[in-house]
Amino acid sequence: SGISSFKTSAKKTTQQPTLSSYVTDNGKKNVVILGSGWGGISFLQHIDESKYNVTLISPRPHFLFTPLLPSAPVGTVDEKSIIEPVVNFAVKKTKGNVSYYEAQATKINYPENTVTIKSFSNVNHLGLSKNSDAIKKNDSAEIKYDYLVSAVGAEPNTFGIPGVQEHGMFLKEIEDSPKIRKQFIENIERANLLQKGDPERKRLLTIVVVGGGPTGVETAGELQDYVDQELKKFLPSLAEEVQIHLIEALPVILNMFESKLTSYAQKVLEQTSIKLHLKTAVSKVEDKQLIAKTKVSDTETKEEIIPYGTLIWATGNKPRAIISDLIKEIPEQANSRRGLLVDEHLKVKGLNNVYAIGDNAVAGFAPTAQVAHQEAEYLSKVFNKQQIDTAKPFKYLHYGALAYLGAEKAIANITYGKKQLYTGGGLLTFYIWRVLYLSMIISWRSRFKVMSDWFKLAFFKRDFFK
Ligand code: FAD
Ligand code: NAD
Repeated sequence: SGISSFKTSAKKTTQQPTLSSYVTDNGKKNVVILGSGWGGISFLQHIDESKYNVTLISPRPHFLFTPLLPSAPVGTVDEKSIIEPVVNFAVKKTKGNVSYYEAQATKINYPENTVTIKSFSNVNHLGLSKNSDAIKKNDSAEIKYDYLVSAVGAEPNTFGIPGVQEHGMFLKEIEDSPKIRKQFIENIERANLLQKGDPERKRLLTIVVVGGGPTGVETAGELQDYVDQELKKFLPSLAEEVQIHLIEALPVILNMFESKLTSYAQKVLEQTSIKLHLKTAVSKVEDKQLIAKTKVSDTETKEEIIPYGTLIWATGNKPRAIISDLIKEIPEQANSRRGLLVDEHLKVKGLNNVYAIGDNAVAGFAPTAQVAHQEAEYLSKVFNKQQIDTAKPFKYLHYGALAYLGAEKAIANITYGKKQLYTGGGLLTFYIWRVLYLSMIISWRSRFKVMSDWFKLAFFKRDFFK
């Protein structure tokens, strides 16, 4: 056996696909996975397909190695290096039925044990099942499950701040990366046509990153690296005028690290000329400027208008609509605002056969790749041993945290559970960061490509093209 892959048939069907056409009736239970990120793909990798019919549904036909996403906009790594097609994981599952639908789940119908899926493009259905009924653009279908594993992640939170959605750019998915690059390049080109001292030139060369969590810090650091290591070589006077602002509402950046490391990180950012605004919250975004309010005392705030050319919004995430809709329907979810409440076996509270892992679940851990990966491994092992709900509870083992700061400096707090193994910041930590990130990449193709990108950097410039 093997995975056959075929695309949507071009023939127009007038009939909606029926439920039965999507059920493989071979006596095995159907496990349906939602999402092709850290949770969904890690679960797919580990589930024993000889014991279950496995179906993965995700609008994104690739896995994204998010830890290196901040390196992509400036071309430190290539976008294609950090994504891996779902089919590359699916073809390794040769012992049973594995299907993939490139579609979005829009509703979990838990009383009926089905998921409604909708395609926004022609759907790729990759699988062994004989049913080649393809779902076409704007079609929807119902997929039946015996067990559902929800791993749809979360979406950027704008906190309802006016103007963010229209004018800000997020860094969450791979397609966000070329958008940021294009905007920055266009601003450089336009600024270059203006006289030095022109306020419009200054605005175009201003980048504002909102959110001093790891996404914001790493992105600001990578952008500054591009300016210092490359732009300075061919447009030196313009490069000197580029100003990156990093705006954080709390009194510290990277608040998941101990204070010694956060102080070090702040020092590095300031040395590399990134302007740090602490205790400062952005309250409104307009087309070319934003309003930031800094807390100067318990009772007083100072308002500042910052004109910007590029705005990157990295203030964390909130649940996706499919998850918040489900939460509203289940009393045991108690209107949870952070995601699906799960029990110690990662089962969604109030439901019988629905599990949640990764960023869409609230199990008490930070929303990280590390957690999503471990939850997926745990749950797939429990499924493989057919010990669902009777297995030992999930236990998270914290391996610490790492963050790149720019200028070949990183901070790391490496642990094994509660045991500290390494804490440090600087160039050595940067190399440790690189080695550990390489080891975390979940495919050899991607690992090879990232290594080549880093090797290439030693000899050539970054690929910084529109
Ligand atoms: P995701 O990986 O986001 O995957 C969600 C999947 O669900 C996607 O495939 C998506 O297309 C799909 N989906 C969305 N909606 C639907 C739907 N309606 N139906 C079906 N599928 C759907 N964590 C770390 O531990 N270390 C790091 O260094 C790190 N760096 C990061 C850097 C960046 C820039 C970002 C944004 C995050 C980083 N994280 C890091 C956090 C980490 O990426 C997340 O915690 C992790 O991706 C969560 O995994 P997940 O499977 O829950 O969600
Ligand atoms: P985050 O939630 O960690 O940080 C967002 C920051 O934005 C917070 O510090 C918050 O105070 C600030 N903020 C919110 N609203 C603001 C406003 N209006 N104005 C100014 N500041 C505002 O978000 P993230 O950095 O995207 O990280 C999301 C998750 O992914 C976290 O769990 C993180 O640990 C993980 N992650 C890890 C790494 C890493 O380990 N290197 C990298 C990226 C992301």
